Amino acid sequence: MGKKEISTLFSSDPDKYYRVSLFDRLGFKRNKCISCEKFFWSLIDKNICPDHEAYNFIGNPPTNKRLDYIGAWKEIEKYFQSNGHSIVRRYPVVCRWREDLYFTIASIVDFQRIMNNKVIFELPSNPLVVPQMCLRFNDVENVGVSGRHYTSFCMIGQTCNADAPGGYWKDHCIDLDFGLLTNVLGIKPEEITFVEDIWMGAGAFGSSLEYFVRGLELGNAVFTEFEGDENNYRIMKNKIIDMGAGLERLSWITMGTPTSYDCSFGPVIKYLENAIEVQKDEKFLSNYFKLVSSKFNNIEDDSSDKIKKLKKTISQEMRIPFEHLEKIVSPYEAIYTIADHTRTLLFAISDGSLPSNVGGGYNLRILLRRVLSIIERFKWNIKIEDLIDTHVEYLKDMYPELEENKQEVYTILKIESDRYASTRQRMNDIASTIRKNNKQLTVDDLIRLYESDGITPDFLKEINVITDIPSNFYVKLSELHNINQKSLYSPSIEGLDGLPPTRLLYYEDSSIREFYAQIIKIKENYVILDQTSFYPRGGGQEPDKGNIGDVKVLEVIKQGDIVLHRVENLSSLSEGLRVKCRVDEVRRDSITKHHTSTHILNSSSRTTLGSWVWQNSAFKDVNYGRLDITHHSALNKEEVERIEKTANEIVMKNLDVNIKEYERGESEQKFSFRIYQGGVVPSNKVRIVKISEFDIEACGGTHVNRTGELGLIKILKSERIQDGVVRLEFVAGQAAIDYIKNQDRNISFITQSLGSSKEKLTHSFKKHLDESEKLKTKIKILLRKTSPILAKSISTNSKQISSNGVKLFTTYDEELDEEFHITIGEKSINLDPFLIYISLISKGEGEGIRVIVFVGETARKYGFNAGKIAKIFSISLGGSGGGDSKFGQGGGRFKNRIEEVLNSSERYVSETLKR
Ligand SMILES: [Zn+2]
Ligand SMILES: [Zn+2]
Repeated sequence: MGKKEISTLFSSDPDKYYRVSLFDRLGFKRNKCISCEKFFWSLIDKNICPDHEAYNFIGNPPTNKRLDYIGAWKEIEKYFQSNGHSIVRRYPVVCRWREDLYFTIASIVDFQRIMNNKVIFELPSNPLVVPQMCLRFNDVENVGVSGRHYTSFCMIGQTCNADAPGGYWKDHCIDLDFGLLTNVLGIKPEEITFVEDIWMGAGAFGSSLEYFVRGLELGNAVFTEFEGDENNYRIMKNKIIDMGAGLERLSWITMGTPTSYDCSFGPVIKYLENAIEVQKDEKFLSNYFKLVSSKFNNIEDDSSDKIKKLKKTISQEMRIPFEHLEKIVSPYEAIYTIADHTRTLLFAISDGSLPSNVGGGYNLRILLRRVLSIIERFKWNIKIEDLIDTHVEYLKDMYPELEENKQEVYTILKIESDRYASTRQRMNDIASTIRKNNKQLTVDDLIRLYESDGITPDFLKEINVITDIPSNFYVKLSELHNINQKSLYSPSIEGLDGLPPTRLLYYEDSSIREFYAQIIKIKENYVILDQTSFYPRGGGQEPDKGNIGDVKVLEVIKQGDIVLHRVENLSSLSEGLRVKCRVDEVRRDSITKHHTSTHILNSSSRTTLGSWVWQNSAFKDVNYGRLDITHHSALNKEEVERIEKTANEIVMKNLDVNIKEYERGESEQKFSFRIYQGGVVPSNKVRIVKISEFDIEACGGTHVNRTGELGLIKILKSERIQDGVVRLEFVAGQAAIDYIKNQDRNISFITQSLGSSKEKLTHSFKKHLDESEKLKTKIKILLRKTSPILAKSISTNSKQISSNGVKLFTTYDEELDEEFHITIGEKSINLDPFLIYISLISKGEGEGIRVIVFVGETARKYGFNAGKIAKIFSISLGGSGGGDSKFGQGGGRFKNRIEEVLNSSERYVSETLKR
């Protein structure tokens, strides 16, 4: 059974699935749409469902109040509060609690956790309402154009667990929503239509009632009551009400502005209108967007120019030339797009996401580049910073937290804008090549251009390389980037069913290094104990090693609740045996210190660099640790030093490392989603590792008791490993001391070799550097002075290989370098124009062979070409080469062919002469 069958099933029993008490009380009648056959409920007789209605509220709103965005929220908040709902603050738009999503795409996502591939609903209170900002990137090309599409929008989430205290079900939900429309907004009951629908999510589904006023869908009340899929489902123990209503639409229905953008961005639209100096023709825009709305719903066109086609139809209906219409409408589409995109960037960057080329970050980069392109295309004088400021100022009553990270949003947008400006020249070059070749670009071409060179279709449109942006470009690009990030390799051992969970001693008392345990199962080379203090591989932490009995433990993994120890051999081990086990103390100690250090470095990076720093991944081994953080640029020396300094201050403060288990919901509310640095925790109990107030993370790893135990954290290296990710490699504890000792030893060696002392090391080193420079100069002079003599001797010692005087000199050299042979070779052919000079140079173990060729002027006239010779020889040596007729060079790696190549040179020369 698919979605359609479920829908048919529900609609075949409307009394069970859709008839709510309100319908009976007020006399709502059930109708069937003659156009799309959907069922819907209304007070007045209708045979067409609201999907086919034009937006007749534009210019004529059906409400008794005019509420802008914030005003509408204030009314909604008051209404639901007075009806027993808790108002919950919005969750981050960057979805840290679900591995399958980058961004929060709906209000219900806030309360969904995934465990064992099953969706669990966790509500912080019951019932509740949340003004959840949601990010979606599948309609980018419609934003600013349709009057109602956004990349970020506020979904008012009215949510409750129907079966828990405070919960309610369909009847009360629809009563409340109906009350909001009629009592709060003053909409007449006859204006409201409820359409029957179904909703299917991950592992759960149910019936839903969408409510419409004058063609505009205002909300959708989903009654999630079945779990499983359409073929195998049962009624949920805790049914969920999930009503979502777009705040942008609720405000719009009361304002009746031409688009929902006009009433949703407050002073931002005003700011943009001033900047563009357009005289607004409200009536024209109202008429235009009313026509857009009625046609947009029913577009069944996937072609790339569907929007253009739609506009052409409208221009005919409005009896106005298409170009004229474009001239009026396009600046508005542009400012609406800018308003939407900058608001999305504000929320996403505020919540810790970075524009980049990977993961969800690519969406943000695209949005910013679109904004910059548009501003450039229209040559407007608009500052992105001003826009951000105006957004924050307007939204701060509703989202006060936006003020906190405003500065950081500026910083990131500035860096990204500069980056864009600096790549523009290259983009221009590529674009002019495309134009010259007059190539018709497909969507795949455009995707390639974006992926490899960062060229957006908006840019190509701006400079007239393409006329339209294919409407499926962004969808295709999204699909490309939405592939799930994480898939960890772990061997899967069969036949563990029925075994009891292993008792985890390392959590009970992390100091246990020796313990007795019983072998309860042996599978392949894996030993399963009733209890263990061996920490298994996981969360970037390398496993413990040690002994079980007298056998070495090579690897420890965890599968479900069971810890498996891979051992060197099974000679003395058998099932049922009670054995003494020992964890390698030094190894565990070192790994533990590196683990706690990643927590400290993560937070010290964030306080040093900015709030966008999150742990991207981490690795904790015996000899060193590695932490990858999200950051926009490579780190300079000072930044690394500051991170290290802050980290060591925490070490020296000897702070308490506190570990405690919390209920998941409680820990999220108490410590925020920052706890998920190492990713999502797939259980309802969360182990919180708290280093005073400095760093709080959910983590299952092993940790020291106090930061002082780390002794020292030393960053060895920082490296930008991909766009938006910087890697720090570091050592701590004994590994740090060993590292310093080793450095010291190196310095001692150098001072001794220089015959200096540690105090005078830099001075002595500089002196030696100077001397070495002087020697180099001397060699050059020597070479210059002796080269005429060498050249002469080369000329006389070369072999004449033909009657017309062409001579060949070949040599293989393991001592002198390229520079020498280039100088001598050139001298020699200048002295003797009949000469061909070929030199193969090898500089020792592991290095390849260089090929240097010079051909004298007369020899060139006989058809010899240095570049060609270099190429042929290099290929024979397994490499490549080239050059011009006088000088050629190249190289290869097959040293065993040197003799063969040299021997063949004479034959080659005579053959060329014959030709
Ligand atoms: Zn219909
Ligand atoms: Zn950790």
